[in-house]
Amino acid sequence: MAGDADSSPTSGAGGFSSAAKGGGMTVGECQNMIQRSLRTPMVKFLKEHLEKSGCSIGSNFIKAVHCEEATAGGYVSGGGIVVCSNHLQIQDEVTQVVIHELIHAYDDCRAANLDWTNCAHHACSEIRAGHLSGDCHYKRELLRGFLKIRGHEQDCVRRRVMKSVTANPYCSETAAKDAMEAVWDVCYNDTKPFDRAP
Ligand SMILES: [Zn+2]
Repeated sequence: MAGDADSSPTSGAGGFSSAAKGGGMTVGECQNMIQRSLRTPMVKFLKEHLEKSGCSIGSNFIKAVHCEEATAGGYVSGGGIVVCSNHLQIQDEVTQVVIHELIHAYDDCRAANLDWTNCAHHACSEIRAGHLSGDCHYKRELLRGFLKIRGHEQDCVRRRVMKSVTANPYCSETAAKDAMEAVWDVCYNDTKPFDRAP
């Protein structure tokens, strides 16, 4: 298990059909949007760098699935990326999840000893994925109803790191918080494979 791309619009417990819920999309629609996301510059760039690091991703590395849990997607070490069709509504959200999870895949690839049961390792990858993916771009934050602008980006990344790391069965709330603070500076400033945060 690893990084959950916590999306804002998920509505708690799973088990809804996308039609009944009035949100979300079918697995097929989501699969098409994943294909389209592969043509965006950010996704292409990350794929290239995964390949350069020795981790080429095959055509079914990223899969659309119906998720019971309230999450937008996830990365499974050695497995691949899942995108939760029933919790996403538009292309931009799908692309965003793909980018976030590809950063986890990149971290997993470049650090042979990355241990997802280690709260600091997990927190570090979430900090990077949150920061570098643009999950916390102010336009997305406005859509979520978080209107504070000053310092919003780091607050947003922290909030999302906590949400993901506390979902890790190995990390209590306290362990997650301590881990996040301990690695914050190093991981927030580690922008690889980008020269600087995009
Ligand atoms: Zn994540």
